[in-house]
Amino acid sequence: MAGEPQADCLFCKIVAGEVPATVVRESETTVAFRDINPQAPTHVLVIPKVHHPDAASLAAAEPAIAADVLRDAGEVAADEKLDSYRIVFNTGSGAGQTVFHAHAHVLGGRGLQWPPG
Ligand code: AMP
Ligand code: ZN
Repeated sequence: MAGEPQADCLFCKIVAGEVPATVVRESETTVAFRDINPQAPTHVLVIPKVHHPDAASLAAAEPAIAADVLRDAGEVAADEKLDSYRIVFNTGSGAGQTVFHAHAHVLGGRGLQWPPG
């Protein structure tokens, strides 16, 4: 069922505490933790505790939780004292998505090229 934990999902395992992560922020509906392979001095992932395969599916099914993810992305950026930062939702393998549990990348602490690659 949409939103239910998936046995084979890495990020559901992080939510359940079955896989360790460096958690920097947690709310009733979200968890934020440091990316294991950082692409910038600050690289934090913000995920909903519920399982949806990507950001648009999350927003369609549970818009309030999608808003929580965005709110927490901003709060992470503030905690990390980032004046400028980027929030990225890779969607689909062609765009680099490798974990099919919705997540926001919060990237900052270095110059960020635009347009991105
Ligand atoms: P994406 O490629 O957009 O699906 O993002 C998945 C991200 O999860 C990548 O940036 C990975 O480095 C990151 N990642 C994979 N495994 C872990 C883990 N165990 N803890 C933290 N981040 C992870
Ligand atoms: Zn999941």
